[in-house]
Amino acid sequence: MASEALAAPVDKEALRRKYAEERDKRLRTDGSAQYVRLEREYSDLAVDPYTPRKERAPRTDHVTFAFIGGGFAGLVVGARLKDAGINDVRIIEKGGDFGGTWYWNRYPGAQCDTASMIYMPLLEETGHMPSEKYAHAPEIRDHCSRIGETFDLYDNALFHTQVTDLEWDAGRSVWIVRTDRGDEFTAKYVGMGTGPLHVAKLPGLPGIDEFRGKSFHTSRWDYEYTGGTPEGDPMTGLADKRVAIIGTGATAVQVVPNVSRDAKELYVFQRTPSSVDERNNKPLERDWFDEVTGPGWQKKWQENFVANLGVGFPAEDLVDDGWTDLGKRIRAQVIDMPPEQRTPEGIMAAFEDADNQKMSEIRARAEAIVGGEAGEKLKAWYRQLCKRPCFHDEYLQAFTRPNTHLVDTDGKGVERITEKGVIANGEEYEVDCIVYASGFEVGTDFHDRAGFDVTGRDGQKLSDYWAGGMRSLHGLHVHGFPNMFVVQQNQAAAFIANYPHNLVDHADTVACIVKHAEGEGHASVEPSAEAEQAWIDFLLTGPGARLGSTECTPGYYNNEGQGYGEQERFAMGHPAGAQGFFTHIDQWRKAGTFEGLEFS
Ligand code: NDP
Repeated sequence: MASEALAAPVDKEALRRKYAEERDKRLRTDGSAQYVRLEREYSDLAVDPYTPRKERAPRTDHVTFAFIGGGFAGLVVGARLKDAGINDVRIIEKGGDFGGTWYWNRYPGAQCDTASMIYMPLLEETGHMPSEKYAHAPEIRDHCSRIGETFDLYDNALFHTQVTDLEWDAGRSVWIVRTDRGDEFTAKYVGMGTGPLHVAKLPGLPGIDEFRGKSFHTSRWDYEYTGGTPEGDPMTGLADKRVAIIGTGATAVQVVPNVSRDAKELYVFQRTPSSVDERNNKPLERDWFDEVTGPGWQKKWQENFVANLGVGFPAEDLVDDGWTDLGKRIRAQVIDMPPEQRTPEGIMAAFEDADNQKMSEIRARAEAIVGGEAGEKLKAWYRQLCKRPCFHDEYLQAFTRPNTHLVDTDGKGVERITEKGVIANGEEYEVDCIVYASGFEVGTDFHDRAGFDVTGRDGQKLSDYWAGGMRSLHGLHVHGFPNMFVVQQNQAAAFIANYPHNLVDHADTVACIVKHAEGEGHASVEPSAEAEQAWIDFLLTGPGARLGSTECTPGYYNNEGQGYGEQERFAMGHPAGAQGFFTHIDQWRKAGTFEGLEFS
């Protein structure tokens, strides 16, 4: 079937028109305001269902390093700091354990979408061999605990604790950290790894409160109600239940097959189909693992993945999956081009051709697996990187089960919730349970999403400093905010498909700087205003944000079709992509001169 789709010549103009029509019918004037924050509007649905909250006395002590967020960012920075000899590292985490997104997302079928060999951080340091090419969530959560235990990060950690305020005390050169548990302690350095996708949101539909059945967001899965376990045991509680899933993004793609397997009836409410390519998961064998690993193997694999997604011509593709496939296709087109056509425009045209070919195959897959009207409705009409690409070998297949019904809304979405169920296309679907697979906030102000503001030198608020867009050196350091590290991807290796790679790299940098500052007896370190400006100017010479064009169908990549305006301009990465950033920063670290930073 894929070969038929390929054989048919693509009418580029017609396809562009179709993509534009599909986008236009999804554009809404309320943009991101169509959503409401789970914690703010429905706090009863936001409660942590996984770990009971323990009472404890407030902390009023001092630590060398406080890190906000106990996901991958906090864990890898903590690990590298421990290796650098910093023993009192305190991680503050709002969940009941380490894991971040992997703590909250325990929905059935959750698994990593990027190969475990490169996605699960510190495999080499912890000696863990992933069990599958794409590990499932329980294994990833266990791995987070493993990092916490290996690097002794548990004793000092504060769980079920939210930072409310961070304030620089210039007199003492310390940060004052305040939390919702009454803590008020000091830290010489702070790190923030609050994550890009952690604030759960619901569609702002009328009637959510009126529903008399059970409802929850995917990041608060209620196994007491559904039965089963995150490990995949059957959800026996759903055997006599009619379930609605609202949303068809990357989360729903993983949830649907499992609920389809166990529920009496499943209604999947679709506004925009995801592109769902094949997954090809497989167990990893010990002999193979021993053969391909050796000192430094994980960094080599991560770098190879980045190279395969970039513009270079790497000799091998170690991961070899759906992510690297697109990169390979573009390169194949470029290789076939006469040299005089290898201009930026020529390369963009090659990108479009490769994308059209790929998306034709993905649409043909929906038709071949599901067929009929549902198969047509499951076809995604946009370029692959307009929305998060999905990969699954059981999602489309679920729609061939008699109990699983696709309710396509032709871009309009669910209209309202009633006492008894869900209204879509003017029809009421009576259900016992509603699962909101409606995603997480993106693009709201950093401090609003993090849940606290930061007050730096001279009373400067980070929210004010970043009001016109983020400003940093290397995405990590901010002028006016001494001894602070923002561990995230923007202005660094932005748009990287393997996010933890960026986090581990930042962790190396943080540990290197702190070790130097401590060794030399410095009180503080901060980027100069000039260095920060030079970095921004340099980044702005690049192509800018490449995800989330407003030509794409609406979604969180493009602020629901409205774009991020001036803010978006600053959500850029290194002009030469993730590979360019890693090369630059590696040389910067090796130089040992900490160019752009001022120690005092
Ligand atoms: P998304 O924001 O991607 O999806 C939300 C879904 O809800 C969309 O399909 C959206 O439709 C739909 N929706 C919103 N309002 C309505 C409505 N009124 N009626 C019907 N549908 C509606 O959230 P996800 O949780 O799926 O994924 C978020 C991100 O989390 C991913 O992009 C990915 O980065 C990450 N993730 C990673 C995974 C991994 O690595 N293993 C797994 C899962 C998630 P529309 O598209 O029209 O807006």
